Amino acid sequence: MQTGYSNGYGGGHTHSRRRSHRAAPGGVYRVCSSSLSSPSTAPSTPTTTSYGNSNHVDTETAVASMWEGYDEAYFQSYANVGIHQEMIKDRVRTDTYKAAIMHHQNLISGKVVMDVGCGTGILSIFCAQAGASRVYAIEASDIAIQANEIVKENDLSDRITVIHSRVEEVEIEEKVDVIISEWMGYALLYETMLPSVLYARDKWLKPGGLILPSHAMLYMAPVTNSERYHETIDFWRNVYGIDMSALIPLAKQCAFEEPVTETISGENVLTWPFMVKYIDCYTTTARELESITARYKLSAIMSAPLHGFAFWFEVEFNGPITISSNNDMGFPFQHGTNNGSNHRKRRQKDTVVLSTAPEETPTHWQQTILYFYEPIEVRQDQIIEGSITLSQSKENHRFMNVHLEYSTGGRSFVKESVMR
Ligand code: SAH
Repeated sequence: MQTGYSNGYGGGHTHSRRRSHRAAPGGVYRVCSSSLSSPSTAPSTPTTTSYGNSNHVDTETAVASMWEGYDEAYFQSYANVGIHQEMIKDRVRTDTYKAAIMHHQNLISGKVVMDVGCGTGILSIFCAQAGASRVYAIEASDIAIQANEIVKENDLSDRITVIHSRVEEVEIEEKVDVIISEWMGYALLYETMLPSVLYARDKWLKPGGLILPSHAMLYMAPVTNSERYHETIDFWRNVYGIDMSALIPLAKQCAFEEPVTETISGENVLTWPFMVKYIDCYTTTARELESITARYKLSAIMSAPLHGFAFWFEVEFNGPITISSNNDMGFPFQHGTNNGSNHRKRRQKDTVVLSTAPEETPTHWQQTILYFYEPIEVRQDQIIEGSITLSQSKENHRFMNVHLEYSTGGRSFVKESVMR
């Protein structure tokens, strides 16, 4: 899922629209280009509404205080059909989820599934197609109303129960075998939806149940992007023959103060990627995600101006941990450390992976870039090192504070910014 600042896949990115979006409290999350204003109708008295005739408990008791203003804005942004169209049209995303569901069909067929944040219901329907006996399709935004219509019109009401509620307030009569969710935000953690999935895991998943996706990896790498820098900054040096360089400091501030969402290619990446965080969705806690710090030390693979750092992620769809006969954990891959040396995990050949890396087919998440105000010339093999801290903002838990320290060529810098 993701709302956001996306302005199309690849190329031509300006960020002013993103900022103006964010004038509203709570901002606009993965936002399609048409969703410039939030819908005016917000559920002032939130209720939990279940549709269909299945055996869930119909709770009418959502707690109003839980709906903080910023979450209202967050869920309003998902009531807009454009966001859902953008996500569904992202074939990398949607096809990979479908492939993952089919890959684990033996664990889904005849089983009970919870879809955390079902949106239009597409993943719930894929699960029903894979043979799930019951799917609880939980959605807090008003798109739940349409999801329920879609389920009815596809004759799936006997197996899919759409529940219009935050997952934290849902009451159902049974535990589930599978939790599926598309919770990833820009730079993986922006939007802070994973804690809702973890809440559902702790409350509703049977021991040994399946979580899709099961693992997530956040990467970062220094990048060079002269073209982008020139078109944003040097543009002002000669405008119809007029020297407008007085605008350059403002242009830098406007374009590079906050992280931006745009598509770069593998050629923009200056070092091997660094894995900032490895998340095991079977075991991680919301607490662990509140603030993440990692130290990195990277070596430039070519000489180029360093313009900033890019962030992207991958998620994997592995099965639950199984104990093999020799008592080893039959887990498909190795857990690594955040020491930067292991930029990739060893993974099984048939693991289904959704990647938003620069060298892969672009997705609606694109990459998240933190540009510096001034480029730094680096030579091949030059070391770039420092630390990165990503933390949930105190102002709004959906926002993310980024604290980046970087040293290279004997100079040290700190960049603070907020993804809002
Ligand atoms: N599963 C859909 C939509 C993914 S977008 C698809 O793959 O196309 C994520 C959705 O989760 C949004 O519609 C958002 O409103 C919903 N969501 C986020 N947090 C939630 C929560 N705590 N409870 C219920 N729904 C939530």
